[in-house]
Amino acid sequence: MRARACERCPELAATRKTVVFGSGNADAELMFVGEAPGASEDEQGLPFVGRAGRLLDQLLEEIALERAKVWICNVLKCRPPGNRDPQPVEIENCQEYLLRQVELIEPSVICTLGNFSTKLLRGDPTGITRLHGQPEVIMLGSRAVRLYPIYHPAAALYTPRMLQTLREDFSRIPELLALGAPEQPPPNGLPPLPGEGELDPDPGVGPSVPAQESHEPHESDAPDPADREAEQLGLF
Ligand code: URA
Repeated sequence: MRARACERCPELAATRKTVVFGSGNADAELMFVGEAPGASEDEQGLPFVGRAGRLLDQLLEEIALERAKVWICNVLKCRPPGNRDPQPVEIENCQEYLLRQVELIEPSVICTLGNFSTKLLRGDPTGITRLHGQPEVIMLGSRAVRLYPIYHPAAALYTPRMLQTLREDFSRIPELLALGAPEQPPPNGLPPLPGEGELDPDPGVGPSVPAQESHEPHESDAPDPADREAEQLGLF
């Protein structure tokens, strides 16, 4: 209800039809975080119900999951006019809602879809092209979660060969879920002793804690010029 009445971003509050808070299972182990609602989402008040959403549904079905079992939301809860990129001040204004969703839902795995959610939740500007398909354990607030960056489904709509990569990355989600929640830091906030847990003993600053899980090497993911349109759209 607080998000629904939110006016932190005057332009978005003036142009939106609905606040798209999120949908699915509020006790989900798996959460997807996209970028921002588009026109269909703004109309219906639900995330990922347009073309990218249909692809997300199909990818979920391929790993025997359905959207009612997971939580789906976005970095921005309001549609940017004309589907422009979210602006830094809007991301800043809206991040409290996302972090609160993570606290309340307590997912074990968060799949960030594309650059905006990946950069926000990792607290680092490294792009999705470098990071996709590589799970890592990070701290969000007081919780350790498995962050799993993957391409935004819209990238596969613009660049069909991305679909294969997206499918491969999706196919690892069940293994990640099977690992369960990562070890949580002790409630007093002291970091685990070296070798004691999955988290890096140096808690560092910012939300990100380097992973200690092994990552399979990837071929070069450098985008070719044909991908520039999607890249400019912030999709990868
Ligand atoms: N793209 C997004 O990032 N989110 C949606 O809800 C729909 C399309």
